[in-house]
Amino acid sequence: MASTTFSSQQSTALQNKHISLSLEQTHAIRSQIKNARGILRAEDIDQWCNTLSVSKETLLQGLVPFASEFAVAPISKFYVGAIVSGLDENELTHFYFGANVEFDHQALSLVVHAEQSAINNAWLNGAKKITQIAISDAPCGYCRQFMNELADANEFDILLPKQAFKLNELLPHSFGPSDLGNKYSLFNSAPQQYQFVDETLDKKLVEYALKAYVPYTNNYSAVKISTAEQGDFYGSYAENAAYSPSLSPLQSAISQFFLAGLNFDGETVTQITLLETKGFENQRTVTTAALASFGSIAKLQVISAPIVAINS
Ligand SMILES: [Zn+2]
Repeated sequence: MASTTFSSQQSTALQNKHISLSLEQTHAIRSQIKNARGILRAEDIDQWCNTLSVSKETLLQGLVPFASEFAVAPISKFYVGAIVSGLDENELTHFYFGANVEFDHQALSLVVHAEQSAINNAWLNGAKKITQIAISDAPCGYCRQFMNELADANEFDILLPKQAFKLNELLPHSFGPSDLGNKYSLFNSAPQQYQFVDETLDKKLVEYALKAYVPYTNNYSAVKISTAEQGDFYGSYAENAAYSPSLSPLQSAISQFFLAGLNFDGETVTQITLLETKGFENQRTVTTAALASFGSIAKLQVISAPIVAINS
């Protein structure tokens, strides 16, 4: 059974070449991130930069080990962390954490990579533009392709432990959305033209389904993970021009769930709901496979609902 590594490192003060925290500060900042479900908010970033007398970039790089703590890696035991520094609609900088998620006894292709997790976290939680992404290890080819789906793919800095890059240095001669005739991109989706017909559907689930970036299959879809005491976690489907690096709504939601430092077990999780667009369904199989890793298929409810164009 997969579990987070969150508790294993809690007795050590975080110290690295970027920042040096006391044990008390380590506990405090870790709690802020966990309580905000994998986000360090602008006001907290400013406060920590003042307290530690460091720049935002130094703080960002120094906190990467905290991101790795959210990893669920029962297969590789390789805990990857990534943090996106992103601007919200008011141009405020927040840090969005991400970590890899592996699914024991299931196909390796289901894994959520840390960079995907951090970008998904930023995308779902109000970031409008990525300025930097700090990563604990070099991004694999799959993640470079995932990043290439972003509108500002070649503008933000990719900060690795020893060097910084732009994406076009790591992924020259790339294949991207425009090669498939798609003029939109993740963080810059087509204007919403549809609505679900059934008005009795869970409003928030509908909101996340309509937020999905689905230029290649049109399956507006989302997943809700309901918990007994920790609230609900949502994820949206994010497609990719190379198809394979697409993030399914279940992967999106479960990655958000783990960023709250929770265990995906029968006591915590009460239900999982998948909403798909009728006539365009493609997520049941992958959702079932991922949930099988946790023995949670019985808790899955799949809803297939029609959409219509707004104003029709
Ligand atoms: Zn990767």
